[in-house]
Amino acid sequence: MTGPSEGTVYGGGVDTNDWSPRTLAVAAGRPEGPGEPLNVPIVAASTFDAGADRAYSRQDGTPTWEALEAAIGALEGGHATAFASGIATLSAVVDTLPVGAKVCVPTFSYAGSRGLLAHAHGTGRLVVTEIEPEDTAAWVAAADADLLWLESPTNPTLDVIDIETIAAAANGLVAVDNTFATPLGQRPLELGADIVVHSATKLIGGHSDLLLGLTIAADESVAKGLRDARTRLGATPGALEAWLALRGLRTLPVRLAEQTRTAKLLAARLLDHPAITRVRYPGSGTMIAFELPDAETADKVIGSLRLIRAATSLGGVESLVERRAWMAGDAHVPAGLVRFSVGLEDPEDLWTDLASALG
Ligand SMILES: *Cc1c(COP(=O)(O)O)cnc(C)c1O
Repeated sequence: MTGPSEGTVYGGGVDTNDWSPRTLAVAAGRPEGPGEPLNVPIVAASTFDAGADRAYSRQDGTPTWEALEAAIGALEGGHATAFASGIATLSAVVDTLPVGAKVCVPTFSYAGSRGLLAHAHGTGRLVVTEIEPEDTAAWVAAADADLLWLESPTNPTLDVIDIETIAAAANGLVAVDNTFATPLGQRPLELGADIVVHSATKLIGGHSDLLLGLTIAADESVAKGLRDARTRLGATPGALEAWLALRGLRTLPVRLAEQTRTAKLLAARLLDHPAITRVRYPGSGTMIAFELPDAETADKVIGSLRLIRAATSLGGVESLVERRAWMAGDAHVPAGLVRFSVGLEDPEDLWTDLASALG
């Protein structure tokens, strides 16, 4: 790895065994050395002076990507690669599999991931089976698949998958989409997974102003395979996006803690509200799904909100709601299910808005 100038090390002084995740989020991936900037620059370059290891961005990376990769790699405990988007990480993992490979994916999980895999199944590229997220026995019975693509908690139903039991049984690759939990909530590589992926578009970026994906592999050869796939597919992140994602990661611990505190409070109040038929909340994290009796009621409630915005996506500083079944890929989700991404606003203002919309 070559830095922006001779001798630059990204967070070289950070011993990943000694510091807590909160500290790593701040300190890992910083350039170090006399005269180095504390924040990695936005290196907007496709090409580099010949004669060094780094010749061309798409194949050799940039210092900006590498700073972000060093930071998330330290947090998840593996070798990281940055991609153009969350969904590009799945494209890369799929690209490493042979034609006809067997892949399992949760019946309820990010619609874009299921859609990509369904397409690959339809064209004969892969053989894809969907499994109920919490049916651990069914996942264990699928242990011979080439890839178990897990996501926990799931988007949008907030089911929790038993990663440890499934990874212990698996004979092929186990990948975990850790977008909802973040490395501060769950470290899948420690639970036996081979690959962790993130849509950094969501909580890691944290401000709804970028698209970026990350893979973190336990094994260096798996990481190299994913990096080679990034080069082949051209699924590279932008310089500004990588810089923004790292800037977002620096404050992830405090955003996550505060947004989780608010989510816990609101989940408890929603549970007590007579208009709500079901609340899905896994006990921690910033995402809640609550159910109203039908689509019409849910749309009416969403339409009555003043502070909480109706928009897709999640994990930013602003609270967002979406009735998820409107999407073709999520038509099997309960019609009145509202996915609620809890932001950084004052919890009492959020509750006032919700309570008045619920009537
Ligand atoms: C949004 C999302 C993705 C896709 O990420 P993009 O950055 O939009 O490509 C993947 N998994 C989960 C759980 C998501 O919420």
